[in-house]
Amino acid sequence: MAVLTEQELIKIRRHLHQIPELALKEVQTSAYLEKVIAGFNQTHLQVKKIPDLPTGLLVRVEGSSPKRTVGYRTDIDALPVTEETGLPFASEHPGVMHACGHDIHMTVALGVLSYFAEHQPTDNMVFFFQPAEESENGGKLAYELGVFKGQWQPDEFYGLHDNPDLPAGAIGCRMGTLFAGTTEVNIDLEGKGGHAAYPQDANDMVVAAAALINQVQTIISRSIDPIEGGVITLGKLEAGTIRNVIAGHAHIEGTIRGLTQVMIKRIDQRLQDVGEGIARSFNAKVTVGLNQGGYLPVENNPELTKRFINYMKDNPDVNFVETEPAMTGEDFGYLLSKIPGTMFWLGVEDDSQLHSATLNPKESSIEAGISAITGFMTARMAE
Ligand SMILES: [Zn+2]
Ligand SMILES: [Zn+2]
Repeated sequence: MAVLTEQELIKIRRHLHQIPELALKEVQTSAYLEKVIAGFNQTHLQVKKIPDLPTGLLVRVEGSSPKRTVGYRTDIDALPVTEETGLPFASEHPGVMHACGHDIHMTVALGVLSYFAEHQPTDNMVFFFQPAEESENGGKLAYELGVFKGQWQPDEFYGLHDNPDLPAGAIGCRMGTLFAGTTEVNIDLEGKGGHAAYPQDANDMVVAAAALINQVQTIISRSIDPIEGGVITLGKLEAGTIRNVIAGHAHIEGTIRGLTQVMIKRIDQRLQDVGEGIARSFNAKVTVGLNQGGYLPVENNPELTKRFINYMKDNPDVNFVETEPAMTGEDFGYLLSKIPGTMFWLGVEDDSQLHSATLNPKESSIEAGISAITGFMTARMAE
């Protein structure tokens, strides 16, 4: 097989769309990717499996006169969403859907790889088909397993995310942060249960939780620079069992988002302070658990990103859009905190948002994405 044609790419994308799998369970997906890659010109290719991350896949392309190794990453996992698109190639796996467009990401990566398998690049390249972006920190897992060592170590790393708000095929990017960082929040309030009619003998954690939730709303509005912004969402609250028993325990789960590590740390600290204050004023035990294993902000490398943006702006065939940062998280932030690089958007133009059961990315974006990326990489390697 030579360079994948648009028709072949669409066929591949639709097949991937039909077999979505959750984080670390991408068995069929990974096997299918391997099969497609096995069909490329193998002269300069080397495929590596990761024993401790069995659904991950690395492919190296040997450069003709390498000055560096250029990395390209795509995520491969799907979401626990029941598809409602009604498409003829809708998900065949009940309750699982490529609702974040990672089927598009994989197809673009395969297109770029097929191009360089056929047209040997001057630099070496490493393609990383990464499991577990949506949860389980696949990028971090791979890095900590030491897979990016020796000839598998990229000097710079690129990756994209699809974006339904941008025109199909457009490339979006910005200097600085592209995706916010996140911290997962778990709060437990411990008081004393009792009879609804005898509040004096109990310590009601529904009331304490209500006070805490209200106070948390002042963190962003009163402690954070409004120009920088940030988000705290408490999305889950559990307390009590029945109407006439005072709840002795409440549990809250939420998420914090910020554009820089510094900002996230500041919000984390304020949340701890509010927790301590509520504990004192309600004579309760309040535990604020912050899981910073959440996603780091995707902070683009200034020098590489300037080069990327200039190439896209100067290329008359590329519809380049300067974008705002997104408050959603992306686990590529971890790899970009270790290896300099650039993350960017590929427009897929749709009314539905990412993670929606009706997301239907425009397939014309695939070919446009591939030619923008292969063009950029070729130009980059000529430097
Ligand atoms: Zn997602
Ligand atoms: Zn995604």
